[in-house]
Amino acid sequence: MVSGRPRRVIADAVVWKRSDFRETSRIVTLLLREHGRVLTLAKGAHRPDSPFLGRLDFLNEVRATISPEREGLRLLLRAELRRERRGLRQATRYLAASHLAELCDFAMPAGRAEPEVFDLLVGGLNLIELCPLAALAVVVLGLEVRFLLHLGALPGLDHCADCQRGLGELAFVGEASGLCCREHAAAPRRTVGEATLLLLRSLRDQPGKTWPELAVGGVGGAVPLCGGWLAAALERRGRLRGALFAQLR
Ligand SMILES: [Zn+2]
Repeated sequence: MVSGRPRRVIADAVVWKRSDFRETSRIVTLLLREHGRVLTLAKGAHRPDSPFLGRLDFLNEVRATISPEREGLRLLLRAELRRERRGLRQATRYLAASHLAELCDFAMPAGRAEPEVFDLLVGGLNLIELCPLAALAVVVLGLEVRFLLHLGALPGLDHCADCQRGLGELAFVGEASGLCCREHAAAPRRTVGEATLLLLRSLRDQPGKTWPELAVGGVGGAVPLCGGWLAAALERRGRLRGALFAQLR
């Protein structure tokens, strides 16, 4: 017999936002790959003997058991710790992770599953946690490039935005902040050098696990470019981005 009643969900989830509820409980927003953002109530999470203790930290991965919705509320019944993000206790890595979380938050509106963004978040957190600190700037840029690509907001890196001529190893910033040939560069002319172009193309095309080994020559040029593209896509400046790249200089 087919039942129309909603079922409980058991799935891997990322711990997102948390707030206190009454004396001992917490409201916990979880991100699920196939269900998107889910608001749950973790009853008694603040009690000293709670099985939730130490599991519901920001960005932890848990195997969550969630009750069916009743009167607009779902209960978090169990949270089995899958991955505790100890690497993020380092301050710069934490800032990088928070920056990524803020980007993903923008791309995951409530009530909609965004598996691609979920995968970018989880894969990105793994990289931020484990990459050599010297590679963190490249990793964050790579995640920004992929994020822009997902939004359809990454400018073409191979052809002039104006005339479609191939850009080769030298490009210029165009009027609408895309990349252009010398002829269609915006005034005053801003060059995008070979190392920056190579870096941006590699980040777009190469798997994330290879990013820490990329040559970092183009980082200085790529940081303001990606910053401008993100600001245009999000219609605001990233809150944490300036502080993060100041630490990574
Ligand atoms: Zn052109």
